[in-house]
Amino acid sequence: MEVLNRTVRRIVSGGLVRQKTLKSDVECDGVALHSGLPVNMRIRPALPETGIVFRRVDVEAKKQEIQARYDNVVDTRLCTKIANEHGVSVSTIEHLMAALAGCEIDNAIIELNAEEVPVMDGSSAPFVKLIEEVGVVEQGLPRRTIRVLRPVTVRDGEKFVTISPSDEPSIELEIDFECPGIGRQSRRMPMSNGAFLAEIADSRTFGFLHEVEALQAAGLARGGSLDNAVVLSDGEVLNEGGLRHHDEFVRHKILDCLGDLYLAGAPVLGQVTGSCSGHALNNAVLHALLKDEAAWAWDTIEEDETVENAADWTFEPAMASA
Ligand SMILES: [Zn+2]
Repeated sequence: MEVLNRTVRRIVSGGLVRQKTLKSDVECDGVALHSGLPVNMRIRPALPETGIVFRRVDVEAKKQEIQARYDNVVDTRLCTKIANEHGVSVSTIEHLMAALAGCEIDNAIIELNAEEVPVMDGSSAPFVKLIEEVGVVEQGLPRRTIRVLRPVTVRDGEKFVTISPSDEPSIELEIDFECPGIGRQSRRMPMSNGAFLAEIADSRTFGFLHEVEALQAAGLARGGSLDNAVVLSDGEVLNEGGLRHHDEFVRHKILDCLGDLYLAGAPVLGQVTGSCSGHALNNAVLHALLKDEAAWAWDTIEEDETVENAADWTFEPAMASA
């Protein structure tokens, strides 16, 4: 804990952290969660200051591009969906966005031949693996970040998300489900030192059997299966092999939050806390933060000491267990 709580800020050789992209193209095939149809996705390197841009290669050229930004979000009910001014959209972007945030990819083009990112196993791990397979390259310009200067909170009844200034950026969330298989869970993830890759990235999305059946009856979640989500029925996890972590549910909520917040267009450096929040509040807090010019500022970051083996880092026990 001593070590974790000490933010190691040491100027290594070059000073500022630089923007990063992939070394080369990488692709995968998967299934779209809602349509159930196959999707091919290719992640491509991009020039500095490009940001993350989705490109729908199945539509006409001038309508293909959708910038991955919070103000392009058009739906947050089942997943995070973005669209451009032509109405061309991409759904279920959050787990890929979390992988890009966790791997510190600033610039990339995401080519898709359908309107959904493939769901893969319901986590970010397959995307992280793809990125790690090809590797990451530093670019000429410094990485820009969004430094939080004063707290911003959004609420929906009992649910809330707050972003506050902090020298140790983190996401700390709590969930509280009546379902006995989930219950009350909370966890804090530092936004540095490899915590996302080591502790969060492989946590899968989850749902309840009766909800999955209702969605499928409505023509949604056609691709949904035990291969790409944790599914519960009567408080029991139906997946063979069970959970990947005892608190996989709250870990996945942190994963979603990281992915949604990366739609700011840069990493948000602040302390995020939330309770029972989801895609809608994650997006609302970005709108609230970024429209308040006194609440944030562009910043750069000095190179941190490299943590050679992120898996060696230890983590606080879940808050709710106290
Ligand atoms: Zn999710």
